Amino acid sequence: MKRAQLLASLAEIRAQIRAAGLRSTAPRVAVLQRLQKTSTPVSHADLFTELADQGFDRATIYRNLIDLTEAGLLSRTDVGDHVWRFELRREGQRGHKREHPHFMCTDCGEVSCLPGVSIRISPVQGAPRSLSAKNVSVQLKGLCDRCAA
Ligand SMILES: [Zn+2]
Ligand SMILES: [Zn+2]
Repeated sequence: MKRAQLLASLAEIRAQIRAAGLRSTAPRVAVLQRLQKTSTPVSHADLFTELADQGFDRATIYRNLIDLTEAGLLSRTDVGDHVWRFELRREGQRGHKREHPHFMCTDCGEVSCLPGVSIRISPVQGAPRSLSAKNVSVQLKGLCDRCAA
């Protein structure tokens, strides 16, 4: 069953949450609904702002982001500005692979996912073992198209 470009329905989102071993609650559903509409990782602060009209407080959103991350539904990225950004960790959704490089604009700070970009790392002797295990994240910096124009 391939439905890469379709948004999951409410029932599907609830089923995903339960399949990950969590209770399906309103904040968890709201967070996943929001994140499936974007192709960029979103920070806790931005999610809180966008979901504020649904009446969740900051701590609730944060706790649920962590729960969803620990359950494997979200992945968490720090592109070097010490802000955690969250995104769906589901194969097929807008082409997101589990691991992909991220690009941060050094001017406007916008972060984007590069699911179609692969970067080969060839560790030399003495490099940290996590390099060989591919247990590292790749972050690229430069100017986005808008800022470079
Ligand atoms: Zn920019
Ligand atoms: Zn990403």
